[in-house]
Amino acid sequence: MYQKISADMLYNYIQCPHRLYLDLFEDPDKRDPETAFMKLLWERGVDFEKQVMTEMKQPFLDLSSFSGIEKENRTRKALDNGIAIIYSGRLSTDNLVGEPDLLLKKDNGYIAGDIKSGSGLEGENELSEGKPKLHYATQLGLYTDILEQLNYSHAKTPFIHDVHGRDIIYNLEQPRGKRNRESWWDTYQQTLTDAQKIIEQEIATTPAHCSACKLCHWRSYCLRQLILRKDLTLIPELGRKKKDILQKQIKKFTDFAKKPFPEFINGEKTIFPGIGINTLRKYHARAKLLARIDKNAYVKSKIEFPLTDTELFFDVETDPMRDFCYLHGFVERHYQDPSTEKYVPFFADHATAKEEERAFIDAWHYIKKHFPCTVYYYSPYEKTIWKKLHQKYPEIISKTELESFFNSPLVIDLYGDIVRKHTEWPTFSYSIKDLAKYLGFRWRDESPSGAESIEWYHRWLEKEKPEIKERILQYNEDDCIAMRVLLEGIKTLQLKIN
Ligand code: SF4
Repeated sequence: MYQKISADMLYNYIQCPHRLYLDLFEDPDKRDPETAFMKLLWERGVDFEKQVMTEMKQPFLDLSSFSGIEKENRTRKALDNGIAIIYSGRLSTDNLVGEPDLLLKKDNGYIAGDIKSGSGLEGENELSEGKPKLHYATQLGLYTDILEQLNYSHAKTPFIHDVHGRDIIYNLEQPRGKRNRESWWDTYQQTLTDAQKIIEQEIATTPAHCSACKLCHWRSYCLRQLILRKDLTLIPELGRKKKDILQKQIKKFTDFAKKPFPEFINGEKTIFPGIGINTLRKYHARAKLLARIDKNAYVKSKIEFPLTDTELFFDVETDPMRDFCYLHGFVERHYQDPSTEKYVPFFADHATAKEEERAFIDAWHYIKKHFPCTVYYYSPYEKTIWKKLHQKYPEIISKTELESFFNSPLVIDLYGDIVRKHTEWPTFSYSIKDLAKYLGFRWRDESPSGAESIEWYHRWLEKEKPEIKERILQYNEDDCIAMRVLLEGIKTLQLKIN
């Protein structure tokens, strides 16, 4: 049967083209079971949509109880009758089908919109107003395309009603950015063409180890395939685009690893367009580790760690959907003596601004009490979250104080300052989970992840059961201990100059 393209399909295509292929053509029984976190995401979306529609002041036509052709016929009739607001309609053309949450009447036609339980923009911060999200723009492009083909469109200006209650207009005719002058509409059309080729099986897709895999229901299936293929994307930080360049000449990381590095160099450049010598050298070193040509993790240059009486290993837990930081956890130790180690959490018992602020103040006072101490965290996330918290609660810590704290040589991002710059590992990623596991550390929880912690926090807020809070704290404590394990592990690695 001829498959129409939906907004969800385009969303999945943007996440990963192979996801679209597998969803269409692979046996659904091979998927991973739905995680509690994914279920929570879905429920949050549904609840938020209900809340928005319940609070809607203007009258609207509700078609949410209908489905399929019945829903579509009623939508068309409502459009013909010029109904001002249509909720949960459905429209289709020969090859497209869309179910926009809202259709709004404008002078001479309609615009479509979706209700999203996240922010309608990405990259909003003190320096930037943020910009449209690619996957939202593509979905809105599809609705607008259908409205245009059916002669109901007002303009290419659909919108997102976001979690902050804003109606954000996506002007699809505008360029995507200062450097990328392609319009959102052009991007939508290109995405549609590419997705169509997958649906019609004109092109074959392959898996690529990437950040989207973390929440994808094909994760285990794809990982098995990737390992079997010795896929180049198993090399940390080598994504699909770089793989496409490399695999014109090399298919597997084992083949890549076996070749002497000078074979890839032509004068001042590598033989792979767009990949510089240093980047390729890094990938090659990592391929040699994965292929077991180099057996163990190593340091590439000498590292000097600060020597202070107290060290703090610091990790935050946040719920991005609520834009809320619910935990600042620390493992503290003194004189590098394991027997002095203890876990100190600052937890927001309720998802209120008051509680978030209290946990933030307490965490900051706790750190200050231990000055001068070395503070370790992993990835820029803690810094980003603390900057956000500073914007929300500016009286707790001044901007200068915050900047001088994170710029201090005693405050170390183990990932950015140490692991990425100075070390190489035989693992598929440089996440704290993969590296600490390589060093023999095991989390007490069976399925440790930040996503699961968010789901536990959600259940804590609902039921306030002590064992749920305990699980959240234990997971955070293990994340902090994993950093200490990593630090000690790095100190034992041998020096190897590539
Ligand atoms: S697991 Fe990764 S590679 Fe596989 S379909 Fe999902 S996102 Fe794509």
